[in-house]
Amino acid sequence: MNNNVFLKTKKEAPKDETAINAKLLIKGGFIEKLASGIYLFLPLGWRVHQKIERIIREEMNRLGAREIFLSALQPVSLWKKERIDSMKDILYRLYDSSKREFLLGPTHEEIISMVGKVFIKSFRDLPFSLYQIQTKFRDEPRAKSGLLRTREFIMKDLYSFHSDKDDMEKFYQKVKNSYLRIFKRCGLKVLVCEASGGAFSKEYSHEFMVRTEAGEDKVIFCKNCNFAQNFEISSLKENQVCPKCKKEKLKMVKTIEVGNIFKLGTKFSEMFDIKFIDRDQKEKFVWMACYGIGVGRLMGAVVEVSCDKQGIIWPKEIAPFLVHLITLKSGERKIDKRIEEFSKKSYQTFLKEKIEVLLDQRDISPGEKFFDYELIGCPFRIVISKKTVQKNKVEIRKRKEKEPKLVSLSEAIRILKS
Ligand SMILES: [Zn+2]
Repeated sequence: MNNNVFLKTKKEAPKDETAINAKLLIKGGFIEKLASGIYLFLPLGWRVHQKIERIIREEMNRLGAREIFLSALQPVSLWKKERIDSMKDILYRLYDSSKREFLLGPTHEEIISMVGKVFIKSFRDLPFSLYQIQTKFRDEPRAKSGLLRTREFIMKDLYSFHSDKDDMEKFYQKVKNSYLRIFKRCGLKVLVCEASGGAFSKEYSHEFMVRTEAGEDKVIFCKNCNFAQNFEISSLKENQVCPKCKKEKLKMVKTIEVGNIFKLGTKFSEMFDIKFIDRDQKEKFVWMACYGIGVGRLMGAVVEVSCDKQGIIWPKEIAPFLVHLITLKSGERKIDKRIEEFSKKSYQTFLKEKIEVLLDQRDISPGEKFFDYELIGCPFRIVISKKTVQKNKVEIRKRKEKEPKLVSLSEAIRILKS
């Protein structure tokens, strides 16, 4: 029964970190800062990241999308001038030994368009959708918000290809619902917000926004019908009557964008000449849409909205562990032997029941262990001590509750599984 985690909490976060998510994640030993906008994921943090990835994969696979892995290194020759110009401030550009120019992908439309061009010949090849979970690079001048805005980050990007607009619209709606499921499973409440298509398209796109004062985006929002529009593009103003339900005055709220979906239409297929032969034997441009979720940013957003003064409060499905198991020694040899045996038995029973346990056997004071439990924020705390083993019980407490309960091991398992 060895300490099964790289448990490295800190008393203080770096002074230059102002965002709550950065402070708590660094103090809790989830991430470590390497440079401005560049973070390393430690074992606890990587577990959370992987759990979010797993939810995303399950929902993408449910849509019928297939997973791929594109390259982060992209030849600049593949990029059109207007696209380079529109992103020039955030691009990492580099040369190889033969003086050929490359960039570290800030996005993958160019590469996926090339995939479409190679593999789409006729209407029989359509529709299809491909996604990847892959590192992106953006030279962010404002990298000050912890995981909310970084220069290297992992993103899920999905691309869909269709023979006509109607088919694209239907799939777009399906993805919108799929996104709502993903955020719900991650414990986030989101607003679906209308936004301009930006560099990508003339139509509205949709952004999935989490309301919080820490957010950098401003959204015009109706609390009656949930109508929301990005303030940057909106002709609407605060206190104006909602154009949708006409019942409530609009409010301006701050948000973090955790996902977005764009109808690309035929923009990229025209740019890269991606055509197919339709049923009527005519050559047509392919319709496309793209859909993104920043995995690390989602994790940061969860921390921003799900925490208290003591630390993080992880939603169950993405918590690093369900249970934080703390064993406290008494200093009396006989009783400590009993505590050790009971802890071992409990730990093994949890594993058998497929309950994920963070085992804290560090040789530090009970106070420090309890402090770290609140900071790390697993949904349940279980304590095994002199008091509990004398009654053949364990002490269980939910992260948000104040009073612990003394229960048998089997009762604890019932609570954990319910
Ligand atoms: Zn309304």
